[in-house]
Amino acid sequence: MQLIRRGDRGPAVAEVRAMLHALGLLAAEGDTYDAATEQAVRAFQQGRGLPADGIVGAETYRVLEEARWSLGDRTLYRQVGHPFVGDDVVALQTWLLDRGFDVGRRDGIFGQRTETALAEFQRNVGLKPDGIFGPQTQRAITQLARAVAGGRHDHMREHEALFRSGPALAGKTVVVDPGHGGGDAGWAAFGLTEAEVAYDIAARFEGRLAAAGAIPFLTRSADGNVTVADRAAFANSAEADLYVSIHADGSPSPRCEGVATYYFGNARAGTSSTGARLADLVQREVVARTDLLDCRTHPQSWELLRLTRMPCVQVDAGYVTHARDAARLGEAEFRDTVAEALLAAVQRLYLPASDDPGTGQLRLPDYIRV
Ligand SMILES: [Zn+2]
Repeated sequence: MQLIRRGDRGPAVAEVRAMLHALGLLAAEGDTYDAATEQAVRAFQQGRGLPADGIVGAETYRVLEEARWSLGDRTLYRQVGHPFVGDDVVALQTWLLDRGFDVGRRDGIFGQRTETALAEFQRNVGLKPDGIFGPQTQRAITQLARAVAGGRHDHMREHEALFRSGPALAGKTVVVDPGHGGGDAGWAAFGLTEAEVAYDIAARFEGRLAAAGAIPFLTRSADGNVTVADRAAFANSAEADLYVSIHADGSPSPRCEGVATYYFGNARAGTSSTGARLADLVQREVVARTDLLDCRTHPQSWELLRLTRMPCVQVDAGYVTHARDAARLGEAEFRDTVAEALLAAVQRLYLPASDDPGTGQLRLPDYIRV
């Protein structure tokens, strides 16, 4: 292509100025390559590791072209021969990398490994694993980003400190499983559905786990559904360290209330001792931090508990069919409290016994001072 440089004017200059303007490097659009345009081009080149000569040649033009894409501007998929290249691909690769999906190099090129990593992410959140970044996948990512930001904001400093103090939770893979979803709402009463409550608590828990250095995976999107067998199969193939399934309970009797936690166990197969310990920790932390009735822990041989190969618990955090429990479950603050309790329980599972603070006492800042 012809070089575009200071003193030029015309449609090619107008296009370059429009791109620089969209990137926030140039105050106004126009069709003259003036001093301000040259300065903006130099700044852009410097930021992208190009020779900062202030002249737009083929290389600078190509990189400008790539930089104008934000994630969500276009549908991305693996195109043989002419791969999608751009800042939107970098953003997608960064997102996947941050969540532990192997995209290889973060090169801004939508290739084979990006496709595979994206398909794996889609499988995790209950989407069709087609490796195509379209509106549905974007929605899932936006929701997760919001959920993580909610937890991350409060805990960023703690996060850094936890890494320095070497908590055993760092790097642990935790599958966070909101029960039900999609066409299956679970129990419903007082304007609440179990599926919605479970997802919201799960998202809050997921954000806190990420902030604490763990690698959390949600088993479904906000409105998706996945079979129990697929949830377990996903956790097994991810070789997760822990599995926490979140439900609420319900009953035809309006008097049933409280929280209970379940782990795998039956007379023939014995019990999962780590599962039982985690169930005990979850139950104790939730009971200590809320006014839910303590319905204790119980061994069960439910499909999910049986099929998952890692310690797995299911907490039923209150009855949506009980007036007071439902009022609690409707509050954002209460959901945060349950998420905090779940985090404390998994954190405590990995704490050396000598560091073990009293139930209901573990806050991340406390732990940092130890
Ligand atoms: Zn349920």
